[in-house]
Amino acid sequence: MANQDYNVIQLLEMGACTNCTVCADVCPAVAASLDGELSAIFRMKGLNQILKGRSGLFRRLFGKKGPAEDQLKHFSDTVFRCTLCGNCQEVCPVGIHLKDLWLSLRQDLVHSESYPKKIDMIRENLEESRNVFAEDNEERAEWVEDMRDAPDHGYLKNRAEVVYFTGCVAAYFPLAQKIPIALAEIFDAGEVGFTLLGEEEWCCGFPMLGAGLKDMLQEFMDHNIEAVREKGANEVVLACPSCFQMWREYYPHEFQITHASQYLMRLVKENRIPFKELPMTVTYHDPCDLGRGARVFDEPREVIRSIPGVKFVELPKDRENCQCCGGGGNLEMIDAKLSAEIAKRKIEEVMSTGAEAVVTSCQQCVRTMMTYVRRNKVPLEVLDITQLIHKALKR
Ligand code: SF4
Ligand code: SF4
Repeated sequence: MANQDYNVIQLLEMGACTNCTVCADVCPAVAASLDGELSAIFRMKGLNQILKGRSGLFRRLFGKKGPAEDQLKHFSDTVFRCTLCGNCQEVCPVGIHLKDLWLSLRQDLVHSESYPKKIDMIRENLEESRNVFAEDNEERAEWVEDMRDAPDHGYLKNRAEVVYFTGCVAAYFPLAQKIPIALAEIFDAGEVGFTLLGEEEWCCGFPMLGAGLKDMLQEFMDHNIEAVREKGANEVVLACPSCFQMWREYYPHEFQITHASQYLMRLVKENRIPFKELPMTVTYHDPCDLGRGARVFDEPREVIRSIPGVKFVELPKDRENCQCCGGGGNLEMIDAKLSAEIAKRKIEEVMSTGAEAVVTSCQQCVRTMMTYVRRNKVPLEVLDITQLIHKALKR
């Protein structure tokens, strides 16, 4: 393991933990597994021990060694069984940036060759296909063919003011492809001049961060920035909160970066979306990266409330306290059972509101919750905010 994977602030923060256990109380992985070793407090203790064991001075003074291989393997298993939901960071009274720490720790474990083998698959997929699913990248915009009235240009224009960056999940997963279809039709209704990047869109890089493969990131960012520049665009719209977070926090600030829910709110305020009455009771699930991560709480709610006929009810745990759906942090690839168990608790919470539909603003949340609902025949509709607006479009 290499201490260079942590910045100075992180190294200082590690010593600040007061063992208060608040982080364990809100952790969806702990609640779903009843395994305290998945908590932030356990991880902090393990990390501190490992770093001290590595330090030459500490070793000389106290004769401690680095962790044995099997100990490290066990620790690594707990580190990757986390959705990176950031709830621990939200409640930590000392203000430790736990989510960033988990990303650095994953990178450290990859450098130390102690990581789940699925990470190799993610790396190979990205290197060979430029997307996480090993799909043909030329087929990124194939979902356009499923639209009823797709224009001849297939939304692949040489120049446009707005680039809609779809993200890997929406581009390739049939369950999630309804989101770009809905957004493209809303954009058409609102006369938004936009283009896709098609095969020139590469993975945004978020799966690399989550997998501890930060070293690969730069090449992908450089490629995507150049692809947007070539379109002459000044704004990038993203319906995926993880892509949104990457473009906001890791890419150079060259373009206006807007989440789809924010763009929809702009269209609503400008009266550019013709609505019909939609009599439905819905609740809203805040995606972790959009809510806790980017503090976008109000815009999706305003958009939902603007639809005539829709009754909106909040979840018991909403906004910054919203419980993860189980779909983050590459958890589904690492431990599908735990991911499904977290989704179960989420759906139970949703059902307690009496809503007919749970609306969210994330393709991965839709995929995770929808998979659980379908497998378990739960009478609940799962919709992205783009799909809700699409349902309410007056044609
Ligand atoms: S990020 Fe979420 S799942 Fe991971 S340790 Fe923190 S609270 Fe638990
Ligand atoms: S909430 Fe923060 S201070 Fe408390 S145990 Fe967790 S990491 Fe340590």
